[in-house]
Parts: sequence; structure tokens; C-alpha cells
Amino acid sequence: MMEHTDINSSIDAFKSAVDKSRKIVGFTGAGISTESGIPDYRSKGGIWDKFQPVYFEEFVSDEKKRLLYWQRKQELWKDLSNATPNTGHMFFKELYDESKLTGLITQNIDGLHEKSGLVKEIIINLHGTSLEVACIDCEFTVPSEDVFEGLNLEEGVPICQKCNGLMKPATISFGQQLRMEDLDKANELANSCDLMIVIGSTLVVQPASSLPPIAKENGAHLAIITLSETPLDSCADFVFHLKVEDFLRLLSHNSLL
Ligand SMILES: [Zn+2]
Repeated sequence: MMEHTDINSSIDAFKSAVDKSRKIVGFTGAGISTESGIPDYRSKGGIWDKFQPVYFEEFVSDEKKRLLYWQRKQELWKDLSNATPNTGHMFFKELYDESKLTGLITQNIDGLHEKSGLVKEIIINLHGTSLEVACIDCEFTVPSEDVFEGLNLEEGVPICQKCNGLMKPATISFGQQLRMEDLDKANELANSCDLMIVIGSTLVVQPASSLPPIAKENGAHLAIITLSETPLDSCADFVFHLKVEDFLRLLSHNSLL
């Protein structure tokens, strides 16, 4: 069973890299949350594949599109609010508890890293978060559950209680720029880490594709744990094309047997 021996020695090497590292940065994509029942919305068959997305500009200018957007978000909220973190999220929480994790950058909007107990301060939600609803004018922010519980869209979409501006789930919409301060923080983390662990991202879109190379150039090790191949596999020190839960099972038992 040559293959098993190979993977076991790779797992050993990965473990030892984690042991030696003091400034680990996590980078996660949709693949870490599938085990929690969160579908990959942008993939084939996902909600944005089946339905025409509502662009940010349309949300602002078109009342009907705005209502449609809120209706979809209300539908998604049921799944999101019931979802719980899985072993993948807990893996990073454990690294944080061992004072090894300096930051967690995610493409996901599901809030599961927050729910795992990671402090908000070290989480960079590149695509925003479903946990909050914010005014697009004054940025007044409220927890999503306060908005969605008892929300009746027939009475109209939520309006900011501070400035009467439009409230919108704090996720980045199609046609909306990523937040500059989040990008800056992500770059800073990539620049200062000694190990970057990517889980569940195919690393094809910006800035996902540019952050691991920054870490590598700075001398950090790079580990990629993703079911499919990524364009950055060749520059990584560790590559495991496995489901997150299978990888973590190997990591904890260090054996396929
Ligand atoms: Zn406002």
C-alpha cells in the first residue's frame, strides 16, 4: 500500500510544520462548509446559478430587485441560522486556542468561523458576513437574527433606524467592491505568517489566488487541502486533495486504517 505510506508521511510532515509554526494564517473557501450543509452558492446548481443575481447597483436603484434580493436572503437565512461549525472550523479554533493562529481569511459568508468560537478580531470576511445587516449609507449595523426574526417583506424592506437609508445583509454583492481595509488586513496577514493553511478553496479568484504566493515569497510554508486541483498546487509545500473531514481524520489518527 505504497499510496497510504506516502500520504502518512506527508501528514507527518504537515503535523511537524504545524508544531513548528507560531504565526499560522488560515484561508478558507466553500469546501470547508459543505459538511455543515452550506451549499456552494456560486457553483453549478447553486442559487446564483439557477437565478439571475441581483447586482449591487440594481439593489440601490430598483425597488423590485431590492425586494427580490431580500426574499432570497430570507430564504437563505433559514439554512444559515441553523448551520453549525464542523471539524474543519474547529481545527482552526484549536490552533487559535494554542496561540498559533494569527488570522483567518475566508471567502465564506456563513459565519461558521465566528460560531466556532474564533474571536471576530482575527477573522477577515472577504465577501462580507451573513451574521449582520448594515445600512449602505451610514453603516449602522445590526445582528441578522434581529432583522430576519419576524421580518415581513410585504410591509417593505428594512430601513435604517438612524438615517432612513437602505439596510442590506452585510455580504458583498455582485458588482460591489471588496472592502479595502479587509484586503489590507489580508495582505498583512499573508506577509507576516510562517504557515498558511488553505482549506476548501480552489484559489482561482482574486484575492484568493494572490494571497498564498505573498505568504510563500515571505518564506512561509503553504498547505492546500482542497478536493480539486488548484492553480497554486505546484508552489505549495503540502497538497492534500481530500475532503476536509477525511483530511482531519487522517491528521488525528495518522492512518488510513
Ligand atoms: Zn443609516
